[in-house]
Amino acid sequence: MTTVFRDLTSSAVAEADRFTAHNYHPLPVVIADAEGAWVTDVDGRRYLDCLAGYSALNFGHRHPALVAAAREQLDRVTLTSRAFLHDQFGPFCRELAHLCDAELVLPMNTGAEAVESAIKVSRAWGYRVKGVPANQATIVVAAGNFHGRTTTIVGFSTDPDAYTDFGPFAPGFRIVPYGDLAALSAAIDDTTVAVLVEPIQGEAGVLIPPDGYLAGVRALCSEHDVLFVADEIQSGLGRTGETFACRNENVVPDLYVLGKALGGGVVPVSAVVGRRDVLGVLRPGEHGSTFGGNPLACAVGGTA
Ligand SMILES: *Cc1c(COP(=O)(O)O)cnc(C)c1O
Repeated sequence: MTTVFRDLTSSAVAEADRFTAHNYHPLPVVIADAEGAWVTDVDGRRYLDCLAGYSALNFGHRHPALVAAAREQLDRVTLTSRAFLHDQFGPFCRELAHLCDAELVLPMNTGAEAVESAIKVSRAWGYRVKGVPANQATIVVAAGNFHGRTTTIVGFSTDPDAYTDFGPFAPGFRIVPYGDLAALSAAIDDTTVAVLVEPIQGEAGVLIPPDGYLAGVRALCSEHDVLFVADEIQSGLGRTGETFACRNENVVPDLYVLGKALGGGVVPVSAVVGRRDVLGVLRPGEHGSTFGGNPLACAVGGTA
């Protein structure tokens, strides 16, 4: 038996190639619909989706509960503005805070935005609580990191593809080898406000640090009055068996940075989650987002 494909794929590939900036080099697969772990292309071929939206699709494509929550919210209200409250906001933030054993939630949209938000919060905490002199704050990060694509974030990437030709970059970051507690300890001084790491490095190739590393990061941060900021955008929300990868070592960071699967593969939802004495440093007007914490995002994120 032979299958005849109409080959809508090649024309779709040609069109995308002609009209888009080439910041990706996609495989010539043009997806038309998807369900669970499977996608179907424009010519009717089915594929098992082993990439799963870089872990944004941890629940599979179009999980029925997520689609139902989105549909219901689409018929009510999708966007207000943070100048008002809406009825999905409180429940979403309460449930996410509980999930993290934390107190406060700062909702944003994309992962990079949440990382940027965690950087701002860490610096403000450093100046207002720790007492670091103005504009001296440093943040220690790991070589091989992936925290997103904004100019500040790529400025402390060690991947030349990520940073070349995008400078000048923001100062205030120190890069140490991943998994090396001695190097981390040596990089921390009185100006250090945070250590920002992925509990498992994702884009670096799924690198699991040596046993005891996360507990060691926690201990160093506690000892030196430094925030442990865990970027669990890719490793969190059940990806490693525990709700968060940090829990595999019974470690609680000061700030969780979440994204990807938090939006259930339906809408972009990200957040910074932490204690009141840290996230509570932000004052009205200092940080914000037009879409962060919108009703559709909260309805879907709460369901996720
Ligand atoms: C994907 C990812 C990000 C960036 O998320 P975006 O939504 O693409 O901005 C940040 N950190 C980690 C660990 C990631 O895997």
